[in-house]
Amino acid sequence: MIIVSACLAGIRCRYDGAEKPCAKVVRLVEDGKAIPVCPEQLGGLPTPRVPAERKGNKVIRKDGVDVTEQFNRGAQEALKIAKMVSARRAILKARSPSCGAGQTYDGSFTGKLIDEDGIFAHLCKDNGIEVLTEEEI
Ligand code: SF4
Repeated sequence: MIIVSACLAGIRCRYDGAEKPCAKVVRLVEDGKAIPVCPEQLGGLPTPRVPAERKGNKVIRKDGVDVTEQFNRGAQEALKIAKMVSARRAILKARSPSCGAGQTYDGSFTGKLIDEDGIFAHLCKDNGIEVLTEEEI
């Protein structure tokens, strides 16, 4: 089984209330091969929500509020689902502070990227789950 970012499966869970469907990911879910999760919603954050970016070990909203705890909690809950279905691979939304693999925005809200994983992508890798972005499939 594969874990996928829910927004890539067409679920409107993004910070701006939109989805970001990827046809290949939608197909995997329709075929029963993938399970969608949204770590930020699982962490108790509302939709829509104020955008946030990683800043060192923390995650900070654009208005300065620290949402690290919700991001960590959501990542742990999403990992729980991944373990329940014995997921070996995840396809996660590129550059998201939760789901981004390899690159995320740098915390300045200026569009600058740094070579770091999002919180959930990092946790997946730490637990032996291979992580790809929708741009790599
Ligand atoms: Fe999509 Fe992941 Fe952001 Fe949820 S946390 S909206 S699944 S990128």
